[in-house]
Amino acid sequence: MSLDIKPIGLIRTPYKQKFAIPRQPGLVKSAVGTILFTSEFNDPNYLRGIEQFSHLWLLFHFHQTADKGHSPLVRPPRLGGNEKLGVFATRSTFRPNSIGMSVVEFDSVQFKNKQLNLQVRGIDLLDNTPILDIKPYIPYADNIENAQGGFANQAPSCMQVKFSLDATQQINAYVKQYPQLEILISQVLQQDPRPAYRNKQELEKVYGMTLYEFNIQWQVSENCNHVLNIEKIDTP
Ligand code: SAM
Repeated sequence: MSLDIKPIGLIRTPYKQKFAIPRQPGLVKSAVGTILFTSEFNDPNYLRGIEQFSHLWLLFHFHQTADKGHSPLVRPPRLGGNEKLGVFATRSTFRPNSIGMSVVEFDSVQFKNKQLNLQVRGIDLLDNTPILDIKPYIPYADNIENAQGGFANQAPSCMQVKFSLDATQQINAYVKQYPQLEILISQVLQQDPRPAYRNKQELEKVYGMTLYEFNIQWQVSENCNHVLNIEKIDTP
């Protein structure tokens, strides 16, 4: 048996690469995504009544890792990358059918220039991720009291983030176009995006990530992320 699934749209997000995307939705509340619908679903009727719900489920395709296949066992980063668990006991991106699911906060619906778009917050999705379905989050059914979260029972702890004078000036230069840039960088780095596997040489390492059209560099010292530099990427 096989299924033919057609995306209903794609989501535009600030996350241009997998590195530094939070591991689950809701951790970076200032991350806003805009779902643009394909011509078949570009009809406001599909979203009528959706504003009654504060949160939505997004089902999506892990398009960037889909061709990498899957194996029965994976190493969850939450366990330091050392322990193996069954793929169905994890939320790994490397899985059969490459389907992801995230609860996000509803923000708004717009129909501008004949394009329907739905804005959501708190996303953990890569830019241009294909969206397969959207459903309202229903608290009485979806919020289960006393549920056990296994190895991911609690949200990861947050790191401190500080901005250099240079970085603060660079952010200020783009504040009109990106008023949320500072808080976004801060919330992303609070999640400590460094890989689970690290060695001592990496202590002095300068890390880089791309958010929107910015390359952001930071360094870790004394358990604090220091943002060094924010540079606009030249687009051709
Ligand atoms: N909340 C979803 C779930 O549980 O199915 C995703 C969890 S998964 C652990 C989150 C990671 O998926 C992010 O940190 C990012 O690296 C990765 N990711 C997000 N969008 C992706 C995409 N379109 N293709 C591949 N990987 C993606």
